[in-house]
Amino acid sequence: MTSRRKPRPRRAAPHRYGGSATPAEERYAPGTVLVHGKFRSRHWNYSDHIVPPISASAAYRLESVERGAEGFLEFANPEFNRAKQAPIYIYDRLDEPTRGMLEESLALAEGGERAVCFATGMAAISGALGVLLRAGDRVVAHRTLYGCTWSLFANWYPRYGIGVDLVDFKNGPELQAALERAGVMAAYCESPANPTLELLDLRALARRVARVNARRAAAARGRAHRRIFTVVDNTFATPICQRPLAHGVDLVVHSLTKNLGGFGTDMGGAVVGARLLEPDLLLYRKDFGAPLAPRSAWGVLAYGLPSLALRVKAEQESAIKVARFLELHPKVARVSYPGLASHADHALARRQMRDPGGRFAPGTLVYFVLHGSPAEARRRGAKMMDHLASRSLAITLAVSLGQVRTLIEHPASMTHAAVPPEEQRRAGIDPGGVRISLGVEDVGDIIADLKDALARV
Ligand SMILES: *Cc1c(COP(=O)(O)O)cnc(C)c1O
Repeated sequence: MTSRRKPRPRRAAPHRYGGSATPAEERYAPGTVLVHGKFRSRHWNYSDHIVPPISASAAYRLESVERGAEGFLEFANPEFNRAKQAPIYIYDRLDEPTRGMLEESLALAEGGERAVCFATGMAAISGALGVLLRAGDRVVAHRTLYGCTWSLFANWYPRYGIGVDLVDFKNGPELQAALERAGVMAAYCESPANPTLELLDLRALARRVARVNARRAAAARGRAHRRIFTVVDNTFATPICQRPLAHGVDLVVHSLTKNLGGFGTDMGGAVVGARLLEPDLLLYRKDFGAPLAPRSAWGVLAYGLPSLALRVKAEQESAIKVARFLELHPKVARVSYPGLASHADHALARRQMRDPGGRFAPGTLVYFVLHGSPAEARRRGAKMMDHLASRSLAITLAVSLGQVRTLIEHPASMTHAAVPPEEQRRAGIDPGGVRISLGVEDVGDIIADLKDALARV
């Protein structure tokens, strides 16, 4: 028997919006809302603009001394709600409208209350941790990290008297012991991790940290105490493939240089999370001096976010095909892509990595290792990448990721060069590991160029 399909009633988007989402916006998918941006609000009205204007003003005219004083009083003040009241603009490094519009869009996309944008992804990471940690505190981090985050922990935190424990977040007892050490105020990780694409169970992490926090609160018996905040770098997944805040994580950090910017023209970073931390993040950004430039914010607003869902979808479709091609190639020993059934965390990927419509969204990056001893795999990988660098149009040898171009790189000697070989081994970074960030070229061309390069090694 066949039953005629009834037209489905328009469902409310399963995506939980953040920031100052309007009821009208909540009826639409995030891809649609991000095409249109947040150009109409209490703060500004650019409703006649199809593209938001770029502001380019280091300082702002003040109507009176009183208004200037009011602006300084309100800035980074927990009593002042930036999402509800129009800010008094004073000076770009404090707050300004183009960046402000982007912050509203990013909060909306990640489902967070507020977003604060920084000059780079590293500025956002050091800002997020900078407001959580003081001398004498500790941060617990998963051992597989982006090279510069590793360098921040290894080269700078010891100078500031901040303890760093790099542990395996997949090892429950090891993680638990690290979290229970006195002075831990932040738990930090990436999922998928750069470059191995290993995943961590974010909901389990948030629950574990919540239990440690509950015991701390009980032990404090009403006295003042501080809790551990969870921070997740969501650069690889983007809010299109995963929203860590929905899994109970406290703060999300991003490199806007990657897929949120999408075209590789500008650098930027963002921290998204509860309004509670916004005043400190704004104060930190003002005093350490790394706000996102308005012109860079504009690029993300005008090009990056409106095309995000479309680009990620296209890149992801190619990533699946490239991962399958590599998995079947006789010269490839191992492929790591969360969308492959062979991925160690595939079941977790299916639960955790979902697009705003609820579909499985394993992302746009693939990591693989060629056959042979570590030294042979490294030599072959280098030969393959050199061949691509000189012959391929579809694949570019370059660091960075999340662009319309497909980029290939060698993490051990490039993005993760700051991590010593022994630490790389512990973090699961193979000497011969190769990372590909899929772009929007024809996937047949990408695979043909890979096939050609693999035939030479
Ligand atoms: C690139 C990257 C960063 C750093 O971002 P920048 O904008 O280069 O400072 C942080 N985390 C991950 C996962 C990245 O890929």
